[in-house]
Amino acid sequence: MSPVLEIRSLSVDYGSLRAVHDVSLSLGAGEVLGLAGESGSGKSTLAYAATRLLQPPGRVPSGEVLFKGRDLLALSERQLRELRWTEIAIVFQGAMNALNPVISVGAQIDDVLRAHRPAMTRAERVARGRELLSLVGIPVDRLSSYPHQLSGGMRQRVMIAMALALEPEIVIMDEPTTALDVVVQRQILGQMMRLRETLGFSVVFITHDISLLVEFSDRIAIMYGGRVVEEAPAAEIYRAAKHPYSQGLLGSFPALRGPRRELRGIPGSPPDLRSMPSGCPFHPRCPSALEVCGERMPSLEPVDGRRVACWLEGVREAVQITPESTG
Ligand code: SF4
Repeated sequence: MSPVLEIRSLSVDYGSLRAVHDVSLSLGAGEVLGLAGESGSGKSTLAYAATRLLQPPGRVPSGEVLFKGRDLLALSERQLRELRWTEIAIVFQGAMNALNPVISVGAQIDDVLRAHRPAMTRAERVARGRELLSLVGIPVDRLSSYPHQLSGGMRQRVMIAMALALEPEIVIMDEPTTALDVVVQRQILGQMMRLRETLGFSVVFITHDISLLVEFSDRIAIMYGGRVVEEAPAAEIYRAAKHPYSQGLLGSFPALRGPRRELRGIPGSPPDLRSMPSGCPFHPRCPSALEVCGERMPSLEPVDGRRVACWLEGVREAVQITPESTG
């Protein structure tokens, strides 16, 4: 899968605190890349930094974000404005509350089209608005409805319709369905993924709910303390997560299939940026921590077709090698 977006060694600072450490990730054409982690893990910060939406005092001291060969971090504001919505669209957390309450849904979609497609006639814009609403499963007569006349799920679908209005290549979804009940969540995400198959865009899907990612992503990157600690195909993470934090996350959400099991949760809290633990930032919470874990940070290394940052991988390798080498 050729990448449409490549994040290379990206770091993000808030003043003297480092919120994202040297992250490299790529997004393939038509792929859904899930970013998982508890709040404060750096997943949204990473996505906002990569699309230059980071609010001050956040800043990017190093890294590159390549989109069609151009580094987004080096573009002017004008070049960026041209790119946003048309090539890269974002559905924010709680976006359904971002609709203007005193303007009809149709007029709000019309605004987006008028601003970015000035050559379209009024009739073409109305037709496109109707098309977009039916794409996301809303009856077209709802074009004249005001946001308060729609359910939360419908409002979020309208936001998705607006994100797709200009046929972007990449859609970034930041906790897009967190405020909705689980049934509506799955309906909306399922529909989004079907649209992805027909329209061909790529998705970066950010959520703390790893069970949604397992269901709807092709590949998952799990973040902890501002670093990617495991990255693998979604099915592989579900089958056998290698990093103890990934295993903890999986044990914190109900399984989609198989027998019922007790939810375990992860003891303790995510680390505070102001006082990050030494070594592996997960070591105070890790059930498998070794002595080295509190002293040195493991790097993200390739392991069996995935990438993992954990000292246990070295131990596993040693355990596998020892019996063979001793005959
Ligand atoms: Fe646990 Fe150590 Fe692996 Fe960190 S490096 S996840 S503390 S075993």
